[in-house]
Amino acid sequence: MVLKSNIHTHSNFVDGRDAPEDMVRAALALGFHTLGFSEHGHADYDDCSMTPAQEPAYRAEVLRLREKYRGRLNILLGYEHDWFAPFDPAPYDYIIESVHYLPVPGGYVCVDNTRAILEAAVREHFGGDPYALCRAYFDAVCRSIEGTGAAVLGHIELVMKFNERRDLFDDADPRYLGPVLATAELAARSGRLVEVNTGAIARGYRREPYPGRAMLEHIRACGGRVIVTSDCHDAAFLDCAFPETLALLRACGFRTVWMYDGPEAVERALPQNLS
Ligand SMILES: [Zn+2]
Ligand SMILES: [Zn+2]
Repeated sequence: MVLKSNIHTHSNFVDGRDAPEDMVRAALALGFHTLGFSEHGHADYDDCSMTPAQEPAYRAEVLRLREKYRGRLNILLGYEHDWFAPFDPAPYDYIIESVHYLPVPGGYVCVDNTRAILEAAVREHFGGDPYALCRAYFDAVCRSIEGTGAAVLGHIELVMKFNERRDLFDDADPRYLGPVLATAELAARSGRLVEVNTGAIARGYRREPYPGRAMLEHIRACGGRVIVTSDCHDAAFLDCAFPETLALLRACGFRTVWMYDGPEAVERALPQNLS
């Protein structure tokens, strides 16, 4: 199986490098059958989100491309919603529910922006204890899983983004692993598609996708369904690390993955010869 579909795609409406039509051309060049856009929905605490005025323009542009490329590429209109933001109930083909921020006194702190911002958040808001920040993050993810109507749960172990060298926290420590496994179980039992996200590989932060192996193995053990995406912000990385990620999923016990083929999410078998 070769994965020719991606539904987590950003563009220069906000923080992506390329225009939506550039992403369409990249998808066609890769032989994709389906490309879903998922721009960051408006959040007033997030500079990397659409303004309310941009949202109709975003929808119009994706729908224009859908018509222009009909018959050559299935183009989907998605939306990445930040859990703490109000939701614009416009008609989208699917929603990705993500936690990028944590509420703290006086506002929100971002866990996704830079390592320095994450370290400052630990110091200033969590008493210097990275496990306390991680616990707050997974608490927020669990509340989002319980409260969302979204089809897809976005990058539910995002807090490991800047911890590739394990020098922010020990991901085998029970203070971290406990919330990870509880979140994995809740996500799996929700029946929603759990995203396996390669975006941090494309941007040079990590060598493997998130969630990491421990969380993936527990999602699998609890019967969860997974979907691979590139969280693409640059047309050159639209299928970043897809073959390696499918092999990782097979090594973690998965025998199928889900993908969008047109407007429907479908289950596909992972071949045995992935390595
Ligand atoms: Zn995100
Ligand atoms: Zn994203």
